Order: sequence, then structure tokens, then C-alpha cells
Amino acid sequence: MRILHIASEIEPFIKTGGLADVLGSLPKALKQLKNEIYIALPFYKDLINENLKHRGLKSKLKKIKTIDIKISLNNKELKGRVHFCKFQGINVFFVENNEFFNRKNLYTHIIEEDGEVKVADYDDNLLRFSFFAHSIFSIIKIFKLDLNIVHCHDWQAALVPILAKNNYKYLINDKTNFIFTIHNLAYQGIFPKEQWAYTKLPWKLFSMEDLEFWGDINLIKGAVKYSDIITTVSPTYAKEIQTKEYGFGLDGFLSQYSHHLHGVLNGIDVEYWNPKTDTFISNYNYDLNDTSNKLMLKMEFSKKYFKQNALPLIGMVSRLTEQKGIQFILEDMDKIMELPINLIILGSGNKNFENSLKSYEKKYADNFHFENGYNESLAHNIYGASDFFFMPSVFEPCGLGQMIAMRYGSIPIVRETGGLKDSIVPIEGNAGTGIVFKENSSKGIYKAINSIFNMDDKKSIMNNCMKINLSWRASAREYMKIYERGKDL
Ligand code: ADP
Repeated sequence: MRILHIASEIEPFIKTGGLADVLGSLPKALKQLKNEIYIALPFYKDLINENLKHRGLKSKLKKIKTIDIKISLNNKELKGRVHFCKFQGINVFFVENNEFFNRKNLYTHIIEEDGEVKVADYDDNLLRFSFFAHSIFSIIKIFKLDLNIVHCHDWQAALVPILAKNNYKYLINDKTNFIFTIHNLAYQGIFPKEQWAYTKLPWKLFSMEDLEFWGDINLIKGAVKYSDIITTVSPTYAKEIQTKEYGFGLDGFLSQYSHHLHGVLNGIDVEYWNPKTDTFISNYNYDLNDTSNKLMLKMEFSKKYFKQNALPLIGMVSRLTEQKGIQFILEDMDKIMELPINLIILGSGNKNFENSLKSYEKKYADNFHFENGYNESLAHNIYGASDFFFMPSVFEPCGLGQMIAMRYGSIPIVRETGGLKDSIVPIEGNAGTGIVFKENSSKGIYKAINSIFNMDDKKSIMNNCMKINLSWRASAREYMKIYERGKDL
């Protein structure tokens, strides 16, 4: 099949979260199943160039052709360029518009409001990603792509199926299936109605049956309506988003499309996330047969950050948002830090959470460390060194952290939701892969952390974790089944 994936973040070019990991792995796995793969993403010029240089990958990217494009949007002619490249056998289209995409951050900037420093979305996000979506059709036309599947991911690519079925019908083969994957329903691409002209969609689509959502524009709503198939990243999350608790106001609408809605659990890139070859822990590489280096790594790592290095080490690598349950951790932080544990949290996000964690770090300097920021190297070291990995998410579409943790023999402590429920088997004796708790509260979190002291056979659980096959192959096969059955599904 000829398959085009469209997303805003794709590893190893650009990443702010799990979306990039999925897009770095799924296309590769589909290629191994003998498909011709195309991917398209915005050209975040400086960030991408720096990233490739830093990882020594610049020479692996072969530029084949650059073309100029013009998109008329908002009564203006917007100019851009498309760079067509080859990267590890995959066809890559970078959509360039330096005014839109060559910025410091992907979606947000820091503003000062009422004397407070805040993170705010860029005002022109709809225009930026509308430009990106319209460019896709220039690519299809200019490069004469005859595609079986156009697979769009999250709100940044949500306009593509809507435009395909409205503005660009003449360009799209009837047999082409449009798949839309929701990676996180908390981000729906909601914009004020006054920005409608940025989309260039017919005005009649601003209706309750289409993109209108409480007076605003909702891109995900439109993508759900106009895609042939909708998927999300775990079977449990596919059910959850049709409920009031997890549906973010779209539950009723999604239920109408439940016959098109499928949950496929993500995998991880098991070559990249491999404790045996991971260069970030190169002095302590280990595998299932011999984990003695994991203990050495823990001791060394704990010595650097904590007073006592033999205590159970709990790690967390996370965006600091309410989704991840940070508010519940903070609520009971004093109680948690009285336990005989070392805790390290790496993350960034909500400024209030960051500030609270910083002050707890001062208070509990002996056994709590907070590292503020995005740090790939430290993340690898946390997965490698920790005994337990903490993910008390309020909701979790799939979650990659718990899977990476299992690969590194760090036992997940997770709340029973979404992909956490689908990927972690609760511990019973020496069976299972993690501590799973239900209660969505600080109490639930405290109880779950406490249960690490009742574990009889930690070594067996760690082995169970490391034995699980987390590769993308199985997920890619499932996507193939969905692609092959296409509209008939
Ligand atoms: P989400 O996509 O909701 O942020 P996931 O668990 O699906 O959460 O994926 C998060 C990915 O981002 C993992 O690969 C995790 O290791 C990485 N990550 C998150 N925060 C950081 C950070 N501060 N530093 C390094 N890596 C991070």
C-alpha cells in the first residue's frame, strides 16, 4: 500500500511528546511490512536542523527536491516551500513557511499577564496549521501521489480529511481512505468562530453536525465526521472517550461514530529504548539475563541525587499537567516523602506545579529531586536506574512511559485508565507487571506507593516486565488490518 502519515511531530526530527514517538515508529514498522511510506510535517527549521546535527543524523537525510508553493488563505497569498527528502527509506515532506514554523516553540509562547508569567498558545495556530493542511494537497498534486491511505494525527492534521471531502474532492481518488487518530482528546484544536476564514472551508460547515462546538470551531470534531475510520491509541481509551468522564464534551458526538472507532495500543521503538545498547547509560548497559548493572546504575545515580542510595528509587518522567495527576501527588507530598523512598521527577509544564515541586525539593533535599525541563539523557537514566516508575494519570490515552519503564525493568505504578490499563497486568504473587490502582485521588496514590513495601518477589515482576514484547510490529499489523478493510469496516 501507499500510505501517507501527516503529523506535527515526528521522531527523530522534532518532539514535544508521545505523538512524535508514535510517528517515529509506526511508519518504520509499516515499511517493514512492505508498504511505501510517506510522511509530512511542518519544517520547524532551526529546531529540526539542530536536532539532526546534535544526533549526527544530518547526513542520513537526503534532499531530493524543493518546490515552491502558494496557498491563498485569509485573502492573502501565503508562500512556502516543500522539501522532499529520503530518510531511512521513508519519503519525507517538510512543509516550510519560516514565519509560521521557524519559531522557538511549536505551539506556545511565554507571556506576562497580570504580573504573572504564563504559557499561552500562539494566536495564529489555526492559520499555521491550516497552511500546513492545504499544503498537503499541493504535495499530493505536484508529486502525483496515488495513495491508498492518508493517515492524519491529532488536531494539527485534522483539517486534512475535512478539506479532502469538501475543498479538494477533485484531487482525491475515491478509493483513498482517510484515517484519523486521536492521540489525546484533551487537545481538540478549538478556535474562535471569527477565525473561520483561516480554514477556507465552506461556511455551511460551521454547524452542529460539523465543526461548530459551543460557538467555537472544533477541528477534531470535523475530522471525526469526515474521516473514513477513526482510531485512538488504546482499546480502553476508545471506550472511555465515549463517556462523559473522559469525552471532553465530544463523548456524545463520538458515540455516533462508534462503529468507525477502534483502539490500537501503541508500541515503542525497542531499538532506541534498549538498556543493552542505550548510549545514555553506556557504563551500565544491561539486559534480562544480567541486571547487575541496573543495580550499579541505581547506586551511582542515587548517590548523585540523594542522601541514601539503597532506598527504593521511584522515577517519573512527565509533562507537568493535571492529566498526569501532579495535583494529587502535591496534595500528599509531605506524607509521601516521609516514606523510606527516593523520588525523582523530571518534567516541565504548568508553572504552579513547577514552583511547588521546587519548594518541596528544598524541603526534602535528602530524598526528593525535581529536575525542571526536558532532558533526554536524564530520562534514559531515570528509566534505567529506577526500581519503580510512577504514572498516576487521571487519564492516559496510551502512555509510553510505562512501556519504556518495563523495557528497562522499572516496575510501573499506574492508575487503571486508558492505555495504562491495557498495558500493565496487576501484580498477583510473582505474576503481573505492575502496581495498578483505581482511585483518582491523593489517597489512591499514597496507597499505591505504599504497596511497594508489600511486594514479595520484586525480581520476578521485574523479569516479567522485561520479557514483554513491546515492539511496534503487532500494532502495525493491526493498523494494516484496519487499512485493508478500509471503508467497509
Ligand atoms: P504524553 O505524550 O502524554 O506526554 P507519553 O507517556 O505518551 O506522554 O510520552 C511521553 C514521552 O515523552 C516519553 O517518551 C517520555 O520519556 C518523554 N518525556 C516526557 N517528559 C519528558 C522530559 N521532561 N524529558 C525527557 N523526556 C520526556
